[in-house]
Amino acid sequence: MNCATVKEWMPHYIEGMLSPEVELNIRLHIEACPDCSSWLEEAKGLAALWSDMERGADTLEPLDFPDLTVDVMAHIEKLESGRRERATKATMARRRTAPGTSWMHYGVAVGLTFLLLQFGVFEDLAYGINEINGQMSTSVTAWFNPK
Ligand SMILES: [Zn+2]
Repeated sequence: MNCATVKEWMPHYIEGMLSPEVELNIRLHIEACPDCSSWLEEAKGLAALWSDMERGADTLEPLDFPDLTVDVMAHIEKLESGRRERATKATMARRRTAPGTSWMHYGVAVGLTFLLLQFGVFEDLAYGINEINGQMSTSVTAWFNPK
């Protein structure tokens, strides 16, 4: 076994994926060869670093992604319930102050609000759209509460 072969098989040697005879040959060569011995130390250091990084990624992943999902879902829930609340308020305002009128305006406004909200959620512009949404609801309420 020569140095080039030993260096080529080094990663597999470190991972313990070689057959016992090959592993033994490599070990015997490394013990007899200072050059390959220092290669092994260096490669072991890199392998340890690499597996640390992989472990780090493994522990980070399950922590990060579900949290993000829960956050986004909670945000969507909030937006949705906010929309329903405003729609209910607008309906109540309409019933109280403007019976039998502006049904079409109300329907268009709600449909448009809903569309904007959907667009906002999917385009990740939810916050900005929600602001517009709030202003729209205010104006919808104003229509049914003419002062
Ligand atoms: Zn060697």
